[in-house]
Amino acid sequence: MSKLYIVATPIGNLADFSPRAAETLKSVDQIGCEDTRTSTVLLQRYEIDKPLFSFHQHNEHHKVKHLMNLLDGGSDIALISDAGMPGISDPGFLAVRAAHQNGHTVCAIPGPDAATTALAASGLPSDRYVYEGFLPPKKGRETRIKAIAESDTTSVIYVSPHKLVRFLKRLSSFTEPDRWICIARELTKKFEEVQRGHISDLLDDWQNRPSVKGEFVVIVSGKTYSE
Ligand code: SAM
Repeated sequence: MSKLYIVATPIGNLADFSPRAAETLKSVDQIGCEDTRTSTVLLQRYEIDKPLFSFHQHNEHHKVKHLMNLLDGGSDIALISDAGMPGISDPGFLAVRAAHQNGHTVCAIPGPDAATTALAASGLPSDRYVYEGFLPPKKGRETRIKAIAESDTTSVIYVSPHKLVRFLKRLSSFTEPDRWICIARELTKKFEEVQRGHISDLLDDWQNRPSVKGEFVVIVSGKTYSE
């Protein structure tokens, strides 16, 4: 049986790539990746020269067959995404499920992901948390925002920059103004910021910034949390 490796890659700082991740990518027959241009930067930095094939959210269903053919034919394959852990708000789940179903060995090589990096830096309770990932764009969005506001557990949400202020406004319409949140921006990169405070203050700050740029994780404390 062949091996499918799920390999975490940096979320910004290329130095976060682990030696074991590099060794794994050097050992496999082929690497599936989202954007070949993005992955090539990382692979060149670590002198990894392997055939790449595209595996992204728009061709994942179709490419799972291709991937299974490669594994069935005896090749060992690694999957990487543009950043962080494949399968975590990135393609990967379907491939991993199919590999298990077809009797192949699946091995995840751990490394950075934005959710736990933000949670660890937030200073908000991390003994229990709900990973929300991206909220649905329309249908169900409101229900999820209300559920986060009502939750007693810390929530971790991926928010795109153009939705940040709108999301904070909507969330704050269901919470007390002193609900503790953390906004982690551009983690591991040059303009990294980790802000924590009351939702009303952070909303005020972001509403008044001339632009909202970068990648964001928002951590929302549970409803009963206070300090
Ligand atoms: N697979 C990735 C992981 O393991 O975290 C997530 C990929 S998802 C397509 C991209 C989202 O992750 C961004 O929109 C942002 O919410 C979050 N993200 C990724 N890199 C980040 C960073 N350096 N700082 C803050 N958030 C980041």
